[in-house]
Amino acid sequence: MYAEVLVEYGVKSLDRSFTYIVPNYLKTKLKTGMKVVVPFGHQVINGFVINIKNETETDNLKEIISITNEEFALNDELLELGKYLKEVSMCSLITAYNTMFPSSMKVKSIKSNYNLYDIYLELVNKDIALKYVKNNKRAPKRNELLTRLLQSETIMQKEYSSAVVKPLLAENLIYLRKETKYRINQNVSNISKPKLTLDQENAVSLVELNKANTYLIHGITGSGKTEVYMSLIEKVIASGKTAIMLVPEISLTTQIVNRFYSRFGSDVAIFHSALSAGERHDEYKKIFLGEVKVVVGTRSAIFVPLRNIGIIVIDEEHSTNYKQENNPRYHALDIAKKRSLNHNAPLILGSATPLLESYARSQKEVYKLITLDKRIGDASLPKITIVDMAEEYKKRNMIISEDLDKKIKEKLLKKEQIMLFLNRRGFTRIVTCKNCGYTYKCPHCEITLTYHKTSNNLKCHYCGYTVLNEEECPSCKENSLTSYGLGTEKLEEEVREKYPQAKVIRMDADTTTKKGSHEKIITMIENEEVDIILGTQMISKGLDFPKVTLVGVINADDSLNIPDFRSGEYTFSLLHQVSGRAGRSKIPGEVIIQTFNSDDKTLNFVKQNDYLNLYNYEMNIRRLLKYPPYFYLTSIKITSKDYKEASSEATNVLNYLKRSLNNEVIILGPTTAAMFKINNIYRFQIILKYKNFNFIKDSLRNLDEVYSAHKKVSLEIDINPTRI
Ligand code: ADP
Ligand code: ZN
Repeated sequence: MYAEVLVEYGVKSLDRSFTYIVPNYLKTKLKTGMKVVVPFGHQVINGFVINIKNETETDNLKEIISITNEEFALNDELLELGKYLKEVSMCSLITAYNTMFPSSMKVKSIKSNYNLYDIYLELVNKDIALKYVKNNKRAPKRNELLTRLLQSETIMQKEYSSAVVKPLLAENLIYLRKETKYRINQNVSNISKPKLTLDQENAVSLVELNKANTYLIHGITGSGKTEVYMSLIEKVIASGKTAIMLVPEISLTTQIVNRFYSRFGSDVAIFHSALSAGERHDEYKKIFLGEVKVVVGTRSAIFVPLRNIGIIVIDEEHSTNYKQENNPRYHALDIAKKRSLNHNAPLILGSATPLLESYARSQKEVYKLITLDKRIGDASLPKITIVDMAEEYKKRNMIISEDLDKKIKEKLLKKEQIMLFLNRRGFTRIVTCKNCGYTYKCPHCEITLTYHKTSNNLKCHYCGYTVLNEEECPSCKENSLTSYGLGTEKLEEEVREKYPQAKVIRMDADTTTKKGSHEKIITMIENEEVDIILGTQMISKGLDFPKVTLVGVINADDSLNIPDFRSGEYTFSLLHQVSGRAGRSKIPGEVIIQTFNSDDKTLNFVKQNDYLNLYNYEMNIRRLLKYPPYFYLTSIKITSKDYKEASSEATNVLNYLKRSLNNEVIILGPTTAAMFKINNIYRFQIILKYKNFNFIKDSLRNLDEVYSAHKKVSLEIDINPTRI
């Protein structure tokens, strides 16, 4: 018996398979799709079995050393899907397979067995046990154990010492039964199932099951989209099929997962990167063995080995989190579309602020559009006020405007909850010297450092570089350092000072590093143990707290000023999502947006809750400037530690592209990338605009191959980047 093994070897051109002998002791265990360890040259490396055969023409073959993980194997669908992933993200096949395989199974962790068991004691034969109890009076403990078993009690091994258990095992009176124990068990918190509104019922009925159509549910915040997904999934399960439900962020899974547990009980598995290795293994196992029907998870959950998929849902489909920013740079949507076709299952995209590309596809009837334009239970959309901070500065209100202050006090009196949103963590943004003009910058990145007061240091938010905050300027040694800009930490200090009676909690990357901290904060909010919740975009999406009636956006300009053609779209969706946190139940919500650009078009669309006009306005710009959805984009980054090498290779890449691409492809650059220097690596960028991926595919492959062997320069090819 022989196996073709795709090997994991650094150089991409080796992305091919080699034949190995299957040794006798592995013959019954080895399956296609398994991860194995094989000798390669003088090394020992990982690989995937892509075929098993009885004959081969090659001789001088080596043997497979071992199976990395005997429990799991990629099934045929996933082996095929890997090839697709390779195509759309320009990665190697082995990278694709590794992405789909549960990460706890890396070759290094091979020694630990991730399975947990409960071990129970069972009777071999009742009559024999009865006889034993009658005749054997000298061992009361053993008798007690047998008697309990005879009365059909459930007994775990750990209840008795081995001195009691061993002799009974030896005499074949009892045996051990192992039952797999999973780390995560659904804690059913009974949330009752509401009767769907007419709009929701209509939405559900529009979706044709057993057909690979894509639907876009454009539903305003609080319009009951999640209930629609759950009803559809219920129907799918009833027909014997399974479902994948993607959410953009781990912080969102808590609330949604609870709703899913309460509706679907132990049919649910969860899958995201914040699970421990053991939990991940367990959840993967449940899915692999077909013990669950619904998987709720983040981006990577799109690869789960669920069989017989009947529906795929991507909630908050506009989220950039669905795109992986490092190799393989895939978008979960592309994979979802492929699996929807594989299984003949509908794909549902849901959002209050769809990606412009998605909405455009719905206008062209590539996607079927379903609209939910009313909030559940007549809750109205919140009233939005825009406050001009230039005016407030004159009144010395640097952080919280008069309007916002008044509202906060009012809500505190009424015991309602308040959310304050600021998309920048840390204390202050820039520390400079008033005397000599020195600014703290990261020595590895072209980025100013952010001051964190709690730890009294300055941090680079890109590479993590940290220096202690000193009193004197490192350059001129004067005590004249001063700081600008506002982060969540400083906002927290300001809020605590201004509203000493309020209970305040901060939710951002710095307060949620510990496992379980998201859940803790969310529970505190739900139990109304806090009055003011402040944080970064982490608090912007999907969370549903009925007591939140006021949302304050401290500084809307941060996102408006991002140099990206999507900044308008991002700002709208971010602010609309944040606003959507207010007034989700009976009490109407209010939103105050603070800005220095109070007549900005995008902000006014936000104020009117007007997605359609934002769409029209942005589409016009996109058409004029040849941006998506009118053109596709690919970004090629040419990176190196050596500035000169990067620069000259960027020109070589440009020249190659000019020669090889047809003149329908627009080539821009090379320019320095938006983040020019990160971690001591210089980055140049070339952008391609085109109507058809086939125009550029072969050239990209060639470039990729050439540069994967280059010693000093690397290429990062990002197809359909979310940011340029
Ligand atoms: P969305 O996902 O569109 O933001 P949700 O599905 O979370 O909306 O619904 C918003 C709130 O309304 C939730 O608290 C949900 O439990 C409730 N809800 C949804 N549908 C109904 C319904 N048909 N009847 C009563 N309450 C509902
Ligand atoms: Zn840095």
